[in-house]
Amino acid sequence: MSRVAVVGAGPAGIYAAEHLSTVHGHQVDVFDALPVPCGLVRYGVAPDHFSIRSVRDKLTETFENSLVRFRGNVHIGTDVSTEELASWYDAVIYTYGASADRALGIPGEVSPASIPATEFVKWYTGHPEAQDFGDMLRTSEQVIVIGLGNVAVDVTRLLVKSLVELRTTDMPEHVLDSFDKSVVRHVHVVGRRGPQHATFTTKELKELGELEGVDVILDPKDLPADDALASSGNKVIERNLKVMRQWSEGHNEIHGESLNSSNKKIEFHFYSTPQSFDAEQGSLTVERMQLSSDNSVIGTGTYESIPADLVIRSVGYRGLPLEGLPFNDRTNVIPSTDGKVDGVPGTYVAGWIKRGPSGIIGTNKKDAVASVESLATDLNGRQSVALDANEVDEILRARGVNYIDFEGWKRVNAAEIALGAERGRARTTIHERDRLIDIGLG
Ligand SMILES: Cc1cc2nc3c(=O)[nH]c(=O)nc-3n(C[C@H](O)[C@H](O)[C@H](O)COP(=O)(O)OP(=O)(O)OC[C@H]3O[C@@H](n4cnc5c(N)ncnc54)[C@H](O)[C@@H]3O)c2cc1C
Repeated sequence: MSRVAVVGAGPAGIYAAEHLSTVHGHQVDVFDALPVPCGLVRYGVAPDHFSIRSVRDKLTETFENSLVRFRGNVHIGTDVSTEELASWYDAVIYTYGASADRALGIPGEVSPASIPATEFVKWYTGHPEAQDFGDMLRTSEQVIVIGLGNVAVDVTRLLVKSLVELRTTDMPEHVLDSFDKSVVRHVHVVGRRGPQHATFTTKELKELGELEGVDVILDPKDLPADDALASSGNKVIERNLKVMRQWSEGHNEIHGESLNSSNKKIEFHFYSTPQSFDAEQGSLTVERMQLSSDNSVIGTGTYESIPADLVIRSVGYRGLPLEGLPFNDRTNVIPSTDGKVDGVPGTYVAGWIKRGPSGIIGTNKKDAVASVESLATDLNGRQSVALDANEVDEILRARGVNYIDFEGWKRVNAAEIALGAERGRARTTIHERDRLIDIGLG
């Protein structure tokens, strides 16, 4: 039996730990910088998507296996270096995700009224390091969400969803209070390409049209002339176009009487490339684009202004380097071959830091299993030279690192369920780091 360290207790790390322990019988320590496990399943997946969020329960079951230990509140790179980890364990798998945002690179982007979706998502999910955007919601009637993917859809939906529905989620109380006081009336979804290029999944897209008290507005001129041709056999695109076509049928009546003027609005602006944001004027300038014959989009030289008290940029997540490991600055991933980190023996990767921010939660399982198989082949027949489990804990304690174990997580879990019950909800997220640590330490 070998001892393996996993860095990051998101889906990729937990799936790797599960496979290492149940299939190969290795002991695994899963480290996370946060006091609690599950990564973006806790701090990314939308709080009103109850069934997807419940994947957390399945993931944490992995820690019930006595071969797998959770060591939360341990930042690799600060509390423990990558070199140390390599010398303490027979192998290390890095699964620390891609948590940074991407910039648009336009004038005015750096402004308090222009925020990345990565930060906004952290806030509404109760991430301990989140900024507070309550004030922004109290003063922003017109919000622009830039991006044509599912994260943009999540953000848009939550901005206009009824408070009654939001109150059934596990969002922290201060976040719910901010949504209660929100003055957001009109969300503009802006993207440089067309409806057939958007990476929405149909279920998420459709939900926008089902929101109570919300009208969806879409210009029919942005839809392709021929859906079948534009989707070229891609069923998701075909279904998305069908949904959007139905919305567009109400388009000519936007300014008339048939749409309820007291309703909130979600308005799509396809073929619109952001050029600059003027926070003082409260407007985003976009260049109108058009499809060229090779299916790419090109600028038309025509510009438009879209009103914006707040801009939320949802143009992707990005991985960050970790000292001691190679990093590809262009693709923002750790370079690897068959899950083995290039040039660093005994070191492996899985999840978003291996392949970039793509796919669904389940994609990380297949990915983690493939990396673990490479690792298991390399370790096969080798004598373990790792520190034993107690030695690792002793070093952490001697450094004053207050690590949270699985029992600690169970205490946090119980506390969040109890807090939710006080308010008639299944759970309420505790967002203060100190409080999570206090509860976790018991
Ligand atoms: C807003 C959003 C919504 C999403 N919604 C869905 C959805 O509805 N359905 C779906 O299937 N997928 C969804 N996804 C995708 C899904 O969450 C990801 O596929 C998945 O979480 C990626 O797993 P990961 O383990 O690679 O990374 P993460 O989940 O990011 O986990 C990485 C972990 O590493 C830890 N870490 C980082 N740095 C360090 C360090 N130096 N030391 C120790 N630990 C560290 C982090 O704290 C984190 O816990 C969503 C993603 C986002 C961003």
